[in-house]
Amino acid sequence: MPLFVLDDGILPRISPMRRRFLEECLADLDAGLRKLGGRLVLRSGELVAEVCRVAAEVGATEVHMASDVTAYAQERERSLAAGLNAQGVLLQLHDRVHTIQVPGELRPTDRDYFSVFTPYWRRWAELPLRAPANAPQLTVPDIAGLAVPGFIAGSELPGGETAGRLRAREWLANTVDQYEDIHDDLAADVTSKLSPYLHFGCVSATELAARATRDHPGAGTEAFLRQLCWRDFHHQVLAARPAAAHTDLRPRGTWPDDPEGLAAWTAGATGIPIVDAGMRQLAAEGWMHNRARLITAGFLTKTLGIDWRHGAAHFAHHLLDADVANNTLNWQWVAGTGMDTRPNRVLNPLRQAARYDPAGDYVRRYVPELADLADPMQVHQPWRLGPAELSKRGYPAPIVGVEGGRVARREIEPGEALF
Ligand SMILES: Cc1cc2nc3c(=O)[nH]c(=O)nc-3n(C[C@H](O)[C@H](O)[C@H](O)COP(=O)(O)OP(=O)(O)OC[C@H]3O[C@@H](n4cnc5c(N)ncnc54)[C@H](O)[C@@H]3O)c2cc1C
Repeated sequence: MPLFVLDDGILPRISPMRRRFLEECLADLDAGLRKLGGRLVLRSGELVAEVCRVAAEVGATEVHMASDVTAYAQERERSLAAGLNAQGVLLQLHDRVHTIQVPGELRPTDRDYFSVFTPYWRRWAELPLRAPANAPQLTVPDIAGLAVPGFIAGSELPGGETAGRLRAREWLANTVDQYEDIHDDLAADVTSKLSPYLHFGCVSATELAARATRDHPGAGTEAFLRQLCWRDFHHQVLAARPAAAHTDLRPRGTWPDDPEGLAAWTAGATGIPIVDAGMRQLAAEGWMHNRARLITAGFLTKTLGIDWRHGAAHFAHHLLDADVANNTLNWQWVAGTGMDTRPNRVLNPLRQAARYDPAGDYVRRYVPELADLADPMQVHQPWRLGPAELSKRGYPAPIVGVEGGRVARREIEPGEALF
């Protein structure tokens, strides 16, 4: 019997866009199950109590569930196992569902997880892929559930397996071959956009890796597999160190308080167009290109010097693909408290803009105050037009110093590399 519980511990924290995506996933799952002769049973409440109640109602002897790596999920799995066990029901956790390889299965000789990506990637790439399992036969008992939500037409990224499979198929056929060359092009914005589907389990990372390798071998697929491996990498770190979702992996000391800087960053009003474009894309679409995530996160932590946890919380609320492992550990990577082997690297947003949005089109798309400027230099550095022109356009002056092409709120320390 397929069961989904809308978990009281999680739902109040998610944005309306993410809730819409989840509801579309459930609608599509129910439609898919009906084609197999079943249906989705939907309940809501405290997950452990609800699953135990349903197991008792239908006389289940086993409950099967995909395991997860966050502290919340690990605790939930322990309580569920205990609760079911007290009723004589066995909880079977499946640990090769969310990720391609099981977190914790690959280990270096000296610790319980890989802290450096490249050796992990080398070992990961040698492992065989699990074969897909067949869809099970379904006979769903007569049991009460909530009405499964309907579909909301018209969103660019509709939730669900059907939309995820279609996107995967078309993207692999048309784009993966060029992925290595174009994945950082902000204006083209042609990465797969499969992350929300991977997060919600609509698309299997293992199946994607197998399809790409079998049908589209080459440098593009190699680069794509590397990204899927980053996903596994962060999951194996969080499985071993669940506290890394809120604690520095490499302690850095205290972060200064800067509510005004944080408010300007959050609102997309820092006066640095490439940063504002990313933040406005996030607010409007629940999405941000990976390069823009790097630039905006680097600006918050390394330029403004604001605690990465504030940035991670904002992303977690707004991103459709918000995922504790990928979000918090990428934030730690950028902030220099995580797994980056060069923790002092600083991304200069002006150089990043010139390199990854050379024509200025990404900024024009999300910053209408600058959309009519033809010269990319003026789009990326509008303060060159003078304060009167900036104020006429209603675009803010930069909240940081921008002299000599360096963007800095604080002194750049000796030895810090600027890219
Ligand atoms: C500050 C910051 C926060 C981020 N927060 C999230 C998040 O909450 N959820 C999330 O899924 N990704 C997150 N990422 C990683 C990455 O930006 C997104 O996975 C990617 O942009 C999703 O777009 P895509 O599906 O088109 O990626 P593609 O380029 O098509 O890559 C394919 C898949 O590989 C995985 N992947 C790609 N890059 C990374 C990465 N750096 N780390 C882990 N997995 C990766 C994703 O599952 C992605 O769908 C974050 C990155 C940064 C710098």
